[in-house]
Amino acid sequence: MQTLSTLTHLECSYTGATYEPHQILNLSPASGKPLLARYDLIRAAATLTKESLKSRRRDMWRYEEVLPVQEQQHIVALGEGWTPLVHAKRLGEQIGCRNTFIKDESPNPTGSFKARGQSTAVSRALELGVKALAVPSAGNAAGAMSAYAAAAGLPAHVFMPQDVPLTFRAECNALGAAVTLVNGLINDCGVKVCEGVTQYGWFDVSTLKEPYRLEGKKTMGYELAEQMDWALPDVIIYPAGGGTGLIGIWKAFDEMQEMGLLPAAIKRPRMVCVQSDGCAPIVKAFHDGQEHAPLWEGAKTIADGLRVPVAVGDFLMIRALHASAGTAVMVSDAEMMEYSNQLARATGIFPAPEGGACLAAQVKLIEQGWIQPDETVVLFNTGTGLKYAHLWA
Ligand SMILES: *Cc1c(COP(=O)(O)O)cnc(C)c1O
Repeated sequence: MQTLSTLTHLECSYTGATYEPHQILNLSPASGKPLLARYDLIRAAATLTKESLKSRRRDMWRYEEVLPVQEQQHIVALGEGWTPLVHAKRLGEQIGCRNTFIKDESPNPTGSFKARGQSTAVSRALELGVKALAVPSAGNAAGAMSAYAAAAGLPAHVFMPQDVPLTFRAECNALGAAVTLVNGLINDCGVKVCEGVTQYGWFDVSTLKEPYRLEGKKTMGYELAEQMDWALPDVIIYPAGGGTGLIGIWKAFDEMQEMGLLPAAIKRPRMVCVQSDGCAPIVKAFHDGQEHAPLWEGAKTIADGLRVPVAVGDFLMIRALHASAGTAVMVSDAEMMEYSNQLARATGIFPAPEGGACLAAQVKLIEQGWIQPDETVVLFNTGTGLKYAHLWA
């Protein structure tokens, strides 16, 4: 059976060149930049309505008109998305910002929001006849890909830095992926994946080098609007590595406005990108007024999801930060731990350090007067602290 997908084409994010979507593609052949999925939003708006959403499945596939999969049988789903949006009242009182909300991504399959992106990417790969998948990952992306590959019955090849925490590695092993540890960082792992692509014909599922992880991640933007009863917060704080989530949420706002799910005149949230001071290429490039971020040498942080020294979607992140009148903030690993503990103790959510990073950034921005005490702020807790138990041992 067909899905309600209204996918029309892929568009180069740099040149605007368009491509037929039902072929296996990675980066834009024109520019080597990410490809963006485009939809017939007029047709989508006819069935994707506030009313119709009330009776839909309670996972991210509730937005199937604006997701790329064509056949129901190709949807590889494990219950991803439709995560809680928690009003963190006690935490908000403690930090002097009452309307603080946490979009808690820790209940996702494999314990992080990477499940969203891998669900769409693996579904599409299956649909297009891909025979084997490969990904470089500093942590959660590998586990999520391994899980969806296992669910789809596709072989998975994972390349991780050799110092990756045991839990991330163990998960991939259990799920049947072929795991290779690399002496280096995620970009070095990426080189290994490219070799396998050339030699064995694997499909590279790297962040933004494949068009559909972004589509899964953008559903966080749809959910946020729907869970806030079709309003948006004043500020969104997002811990960025490759930036898929930040770029995806911004894309979701564009699409929702075009479909009339959000008013054309709605005030968009100010987007805040948080990175570790041990690996902050986007924060630096943003404040230096650059559109592209040079490779960050010697990247080091306890937040494995943020250990991304170079990002192919750098300019898309930086453009969204500027377009939203947002900003970019670095926090230290010690601050991440301190605020992860505060978040945990005030809310009952055991966050990934990336979630603690958002709170650390919020506190800094309140102190600077950049966030006002009465503003509505959404923090993304992007994963569970359980996979980082070594940090609390
Ligand atoms: C991958 C990851 C991030 C960064 O996500 P991007 O959307 O790729 O920037 C943040 N937090 C956690 C827990 C992650 O696994």
